[in-house]
Amino acid sequence: MEDLFGHHISYLRVSITDRCNERCQYCMPDEEQEWLPRSEVLSYEEILRVVRVGAGMGISKVRVTGGEPLTRRNVLWFFEELQKIEGIKDIGISTNGTLLGRNSGNGDETNAQALVDRGVRTANVSLDTLNAGVYAETTGRDLLKEAIAGIDAARDAGFEKIKINAVLMRNRNEHELWEMIEFARERDLLLRFIELMPVSSTHVLTEENFLPTAEAKRLIEFKFGKLTPRADFKTNGPASYYQMPDSDQLIGFIGAMTNLHFCETCNKLRLTCEGKLRPCLGSHLEFDMREVLRNPELTDDDVAKFFLDVVAKKPEQHEFRENYQPGRKMIAIGG
Ligand code: SAM
Ligand code: SF4
Repeated sequence: MEDLFGHHISYLRVSITDRCNERCQYCMPDEEQEWLPRSEVLSYEEILRVVRVGAGMGISKVRVTGGEPLTRRNVLWFFEELQKIEGIKDIGISTNGTLLGRNSGNGDETNAQALVDRGVRTANVSLDTLNAGVYAETTGRDLLKEAIAGIDAARDAGFEKIKINAVLMRNRNEHELWEMIEFARERDLLLRFIELMPVSSTHVLTEENFLPTAEAKRLIEFKFGKLTPRADFKTNGPASYYQMPDSDQLIGFIGAMTNLHFCETCNKLRLTCEGKLRPCLGSHLEFDMREVLRNPELTDDDVAKFFLDVVAKKPEQHEFRENYQPGRKMIAIGG
């Protein structure tokens, strides 16, 4: 599938729940959330059908996200089925990590091990800070220990790649970037720093809290020396990677707000947990695939056509720099 601007679409990010065991201030700040009624959330079978049809149209990579995907019941069954879909070569999960070290219900196996055994190759774990107080303030939960235990469980389980995603916030983790880098180096994790994006209506999405990636890079260089750009190193996303001066450690920067080339290599579609197909995170465009999936008169060919129609509407770039006003919260999109 190719859009009007030559983006070749091969990556589907699938949110399987709007629920979460944390309350990150930049994502879902309200303690009391109104969750979607179960009937509005796509069943696993419906999601698997979307992926199966997508695979037939060139989707080869799926990342499962949420909310917190590991909070959904029977999630391991879902991964078991996902790995069977022909054409899906790369399966990843985005998680806050707090449940990765938990027992999976099978002997003394952890959830992390269960995921690896079901073909999940990469784990993107969110970790913005190593300070327990800052973690509790940022996520609304005192779960730093569990998150780190989850990262360690993921390392033991043998994922091909573990990425740590840290959202940059001035006066929050600005003075900890160095410790984060050392934490990642000691554990051989790929650390990426992400700019705050206006994807939720919350009091923390302000100019004062925004820390641009260029400034984070300068802070790191001030302490460690010059970073070397590594344009040759690519993961499946918009991060720019740099090599540390004193080792072969790479650090990624994801600057959705300040990097003017951010959208050039976009290969992604997003499926929300209630079945909206979104061609771009930073646009209000979304299209109701659930209607198609639940209409008994419509077939997989109609689902395939739906994919093509949405790809044809994929914008050239996001609208974050144009005084974008968030509609849906990030939790309800699937980051
Ligand atoms: N619960 C999982 C997690 O935290 O990784 C998966 C879902 S979460 C919505 C996916 C990613 O979106 C996380 O890395 C989170 O930090 C990021 N995110 C959420 N709100 C954001 C915002 N306003 N700006 C930048 N990143 C955000
Ligand atoms: Fe939950 Fe992830 Fe959003 Fe935090 S960023 S509230 S962990 S979905």
